[in-house]
Amino acid sequence: MKPIIAMPSDALVEVNPRMPSDYPAYAPHDVKEAVFAIGATPLILPFPDNMAEAQAAAEEMVNLYDALILPGGPDVAPQYFGEEPIPEIGITVSQKDEFEIALIKATLAANKPILGICRGIQIMNVAMGGTLYQDLATQDPDYAIQHTQATIGNFVTHHINLEADSRLAKLVGMKLLVNSRHHQAVRKPGKGLRVTATAPDGVIEGLESTDNNLFVGVQWHPENLWQKDPVQLNIFKDLLTRI
Ligand code: MN
Repeated sequence: MKPIIAMPSDALVEVNPRMPSDYPAYAPHDVKEAVFAIGATPLILPFPDNMAEAQAAAEEMVNLYDALILPGGPDVAPQYFGEEPIPEIGITVSQKDEFEIALIKATLAANKPILGICRGIQIMNVAMGGTLYQDLATQDPDYAIQHTQATIGNFVTHHINLEADSRLAKLVGMKLLVNSRHHQAVRKPGKGLRVTATAPDGVIEGLESTDNNLFVGVQWHPENLWQKDPVQLNIFKDLLTRI
């Protein structure tokens, strides 16, 4: 049997105005295609609307997969890192946050590896006690690069620099051009996480576990780049080597 790589679902909230509760649970197309491309089987995990069920659902679902991808999605609600929402924050979905934080803890407890992408690196950081910039342009005084790129989402726009001894550098090299579709970012790294990639303006673009190989996170979207640049698929292949 092929390895199973699960991903928590997103949920469209503005699909059918005549039946507002009938929205789909879905995962990004290019992420599930990356999972197929590395010879694994993707599995989408829906979150319960009832937040009281998040923990139990996560503890059941963790038995279903070998590795977890946390894909991009809405902003993380600042209540999970001890802040009130500033006016510039985007859409947040607390039910999704609650489930994903429980899922991250269950996955680490089961010693299963995680890849975080965009929102995924952020929710992982929050689950480990770290904080986020709710909005880079408002809160980061050194913000100097367009991280919410105006151009097409699968075009590369800014550079990142990688730490020489990092897992990410072994996968993609010491300097890389990436795409950028985020207005939030990691502010203070959480427990057991270290910064392994930064943009030239200092914005954190990569995090990894310090004392095991369970987590690698990237702020950019390799799932939209591997089709033209096989180096970006290394980030997904690496998840298989960590199972
Ligand atoms: Mn960026």
